Amino acid sequence: MTKTSIAFSEEQIKRYSRHIILPQVGGKGQRKLLAGSVLLIGAGGLGSPAALYLAAAGVGKLGIVDFDVVDLSNLQRQVLHHGHDVGRPKVTSATDGIRDINPDVEVVPYTTAINSENIMDIIADYDVIVDGSDNFATRYLVNDACVMACKPNVHGSVFLFEGQATVFLPGKGCYRCLYPTPPPPGLVPSCQEAGVLGVLPGIVGLIQATEAIKIIVGVGESLAGRLLLFDALSMEFRQVKLRKNPGCPICGENPTIHDLIDYQEFCGVPTASH
Ligand SMILES: [Zn+2]
Repeated sequence: MTKTSIAFSEEQIKRYSRHIILPQVGGKGQRKLLAGSVLLIGAGGLGSPAALYLAAAGVGKLGIVDFDVVDLSNLQRQVLHHGHDVGRPKVTSATDGIRDINPDVEVVPYTTAINSENIMDIIADYDVIVDGSDNFATRYLVNDACVMACKPNVHGSVFLFEGQATVFLPGKGCYRCLYPTPPPPGLVPSCQEAGVLGVLPGIVGLIQATEAIKIIVGVGESLAGRLLLFDALSMEFRQVKLRKNPGCPICGENPTIHDLIDYQEFCGVPTASH
């Protein structure tokens, strides 16, 4: 018997009733969610709201990669962690929080800095990758690994009062189609120097969670091919069309990148989530 044909328990029928009564989700879609898996890169500002809602929605397996520990300054936006978690590894705090919400979810913690050596093994086990990283080194690594492994990459980023999100589907363009190479170190403010409005990663992280759920259930129109831009100060959403770039160095017609690259870290802390 496959995981998608298993019967719901009474508790599950109740827990997921608001999904099950939606014609576009239904029991079939809920079974897909329970059989589905999402890897969160980072349990920080973007990963926190994404993890909470993906767990509540009943995504069967959530992998979380973060080597960092909870700091008091994280609590302004990283809502997966609480005061008593300060000093604990973020993946441990995240695992506890998710289990409290939904025992149906298998949480797989990775207390490690993601790099070219381990990323292919880690992403292999997941249907969808949600990139909640806050630095270019990780963002490019995740992009390249997703292109190579043909995994959907749900991208999100935040800066000051602005956020952006999109989806890169296998064969349909990637982050390098948009920005072929990372900016040189020094041009980008360090993570500690730049501030962020606390609610902003909440909004962007939930857009990422929404797209991940749509991919797993197979409903709606994906953000693939569109970059959604959000300005919290003017409260405006805009979108720009994205096209696959034939000159892209990794997914273009004559790719020049064939191996994963560990770029120099731009932030004070390697692969820490913002
Ligand atoms: Zn590309």
